[in-house]
Formats: sequence, structure tokens, C-alpha cells
Amino acid sequence: MSHAIDQLNRPLHDLRISVTDRCNFRCTYCMPKSVFGRDYQFMPQDQLLTFEEMDRVARVFVDLGVRKIRLTGGEPLMRRDLESLVSKLALIPGTEDLALTTNGSFHITRIQSLKDAGLKRMTVSLDALDDATFMSMNDVDFPVSKVLEWIDVSANAGLGPVKINMVVKRGVNEHAILPMARYFREHCHVLRLIEYMDVGHSNGWRMDDVVTAAQIRDLLHADMPIEPLEPNSRGEVAERYRYTDGSGEIGIIASVSQPFCGDCSRARISADGKLYTCLFAINGTDMRGLLRGGASAAELREAITAVWQKRVDRYSELRSAQTEDLPKVEMSYIGG
Ligand code: SF4
Repeated sequence: MSHAIDQLNRPLHDLRISVTDRCNFRCTYCMPKSVFGRDYQFMPQDQLLTFEEMDRVARVFVDLGVRKIRLTGGEPLMRRDLESLVSKLALIPGTEDLALTTNGSFHITRIQSLKDAGLKRMTVSLDALDDATFMSMNDVDFPVSKVLEWIDVSANAGLGPVKINMVVKRGVNEHAILPMARYFREHCHVLRLIEYMDVGHSNGWRMDDVVTAAQIRDLLHADMPIEPLEPNSRGEVAERYRYTDGSGEIGIIASVSQPFCGDCSRARISADGKLYTCLFAINGTDMRGLLRGGASAAELREAITAVWQKRVDRYSELRSAQTEDLPKVEMSYIGG
């Protein structure tokens, strides 16, 4: 079977499936309370793809070259019985990696059940080590200690190396960069520092609030010398660094100051079954209608190939004052 290649010669390699638009946190850079308040209408259950539908469409993506599947949200564990989806996806021949991105706020017993279902890797979002700063980023009162416990139990369950995603926002949590780096270096987990991005159209993004990769790198290097590492694979989003004393690795995701669109091989499916070819997209292509209309695997394949082959996305390279206010899709809807 031939693999799908887009207009910029980028292969389809990674699939991110958003299983819900709901979340129990209200991170200001993703789901600010001012927009996603008590009265916010989340998608009703019958609009969400069923796990069977997600499995059907994922099989076609793997057929077209996808090797890595990541489950996202919202908060994916808000979707009941996620383990049954994991066990379906884990059976797809050709899938090399099956990962989950979570805020680590659910009961730690879920970790082993996810592992037993076939999950391979865990990524956890955590924006600070102290509760006050953490709360100023996620706008809910949830103890950091619980998330740290989720991270350690995930590593002990063999879902590592656990990656920790920290979004850095100027004036809010950049003071937490060094404490986080020291802590995760000591605990042998891989911290990834993420530039604050203009995702969606609700987070009030300003360039002034971005701490750039260069600034983060200099801050780290001055305290714990680092040197660059080769990427693990084409299309890897994080710039990798190792501590020169050999005590581990750290990553920086620089979508704003050093775009990486040239190798972007990621497709995204929203929880209601729309295919998006960029995190900063405005429109998606409906797959749910095809799935519920009885489309065959060949027809799904044709539809996905047609979308991917037309793809020219490189939003981060084209970002400008004109693009900031575009009605981009919300990250909580298509996943990070
Ligand atoms: S901006 Fe779009 S095309 Fe560029 S790396 Fe991100 S998802 Fe890929």
C-alpha cells in the first residue's frame, strides 16, 4: 500500500485522536474559564465518534502510513472506559507507538489498566511544581503532588520515558522553569518546555507573553549546561538537549520562534470525526458522515488521501499579525 504524501512532500506518519472536547482543568492558554464557563455547551455524546468508529478510521490511517497514534482531548480520561479504545487501537498491525496525553488528575489505578489495555507511552501536562503557580495556569485547585504521583506510577508501570509538557507563559510561570528542570532531571523524566502558542481564538495570545526557545535555552544552559541532541525521528516536534554532565535529557517545543512545519507529518481527528491537517486549522473534513453512512475502508482511504495530498499547511511559518485573529479551531477540540 502506498503512503500518503502532501504537497510539501511530507508523509502521513502521526495521528492524534481527540476523544472528547471536555476537560476538568481550565488552562488559560487552552480553555480559559471566560469562554469555557459553567454554561459552555460541550458536544453531546451522540455527536462523538464511538470507539468502533475511531478504530475503523485509525486502521485506514495506519494503512496510509501512520505509525504513531496519540490519544488527546480535552482531557482524554474524561471519556468513559478509554481502556476499551486503547485495547482496540493496540491491535492494529503496523502501529509502532500508542501514547496518551493527560493532565494526570485521574486515579492512579487507571495507569495499570491503560497499560494492560496496550498503551505504550504516557505524556503528562504540568506547568509548575508549586500549587499556586500551577493553579494560575490551569485555573482549578488541584494539587501538584497528585500529578507527580501519576508521573512516577506511569514510569514504574513501564510507560516511560514519561514526557512532561510545560507551557511557559511570560509573567506567569517562567520562574518555574529551573525548579521543573532540576526536579525532572533528578527523577529521570523528560521535561519539554513549550512556547506559548496562539492556538484557537480564545486565549488572548500576545507575542509579548511568549518566552522564546532561545531565552529558555540560555536560562537552562546558564544553570545546568546542555548540548543539542539529534532528533529521534523526522517530524519530532521537540528540539532535544542533553545535560553535559550526562544526567538526562530535556526538550523545547518552539512552534512560534523556530517553526517545524517542514517535517510536520501529523493529522488530527476531532472527537466528532473531523479531519484536520494542522493544529492551527480553521476547517476540517467530516469523516463521521462517511463512517455512519456505511463507507467502506477503500472509500475512507480515498477521502483521507484526497485531503492529505492537497495539504499545504505551514501555519507557524506564516504566522503574522494578520493570522493571529483567524477563527482557528480550539486546541481543546482537536487536541495538542
Ligand atoms: S503549524 Fe501546522 S503544519 Fe506547522 S508544525 Fe504545527 S501542525 Fe504542523
